[in-house]
Amino acid sequence: MSERSLENKEPRSIMVLVVAHCVLNRTTRWWQKGQDVERNMGPVCEILRFLSKNKIGVFQLPCPEYMFLGNPRPPATKDDYKNLQGFKEHCEQLAVDSAKHLRLLVKKGREPKTVLLAIVGIERSPCCGVSCTPRKFDGETKYKNEKGLFFEALFEELKKLGCTIPMIGLDMHQPDDVCRKLAVLLKSRVE
Ligand code: SF4
Repeated sequence: MSERSLENKEPRSIMVLVVAHCVLNRTTRWWQKGQDVERNMGPVCEILRFLSKNKIGVFQLPCPEYMFLGNPRPPATKDDYKNLQGFKEHCEQLAVDSAKHLRLLVKKGREPKTVLLAIVGIERSPCCGVSCTPRKFDGETKYKNEKGLFFEALFEELKKLGCTIPMIGLDMHQPDDVCRKLAVLLKSRVE
């Protein structure tokens, strides 16, 4: 193909998937002594296969819980983390930094254009939940259809920057579900 015809070619879009940290690195997942360590090893392979098959890049968000408490750490709800001194501010700062980084990724990707397909969170996580987040009511844990602490802050920061990116929750027990949702989303973006 000549240089001229390359110049005339429409710029293509390149997709990037934004993922909660533990999608690529499960070592940061909540772990307690005596718990099976298998769940904390390796990446979520189903997502990796989806990315590789569809030639989609990946952006890994930070893990707010691990960065603050490490492992092992106690089980906690969104309310517990809200009441943990300094943690909400920590999430907000990570959200500011991540949103800026994502905006730059899109802004600087002029040709080919960089498009963020979606942000994948982790259902039942107090920080990265998308539509299933543990809350505490009268000392009891209940799951509510709302975002976790970090994803809530990230959503707000992206909104301030004018970025609207769909958020999808990954159920670690059914990773294929999220791949199916992503495939539908991908189809709607490339058509
Ligand atoms: S769900 Fe979020 S906070 Fe929990 S381990 Fe994964 S990245 Fe860290």
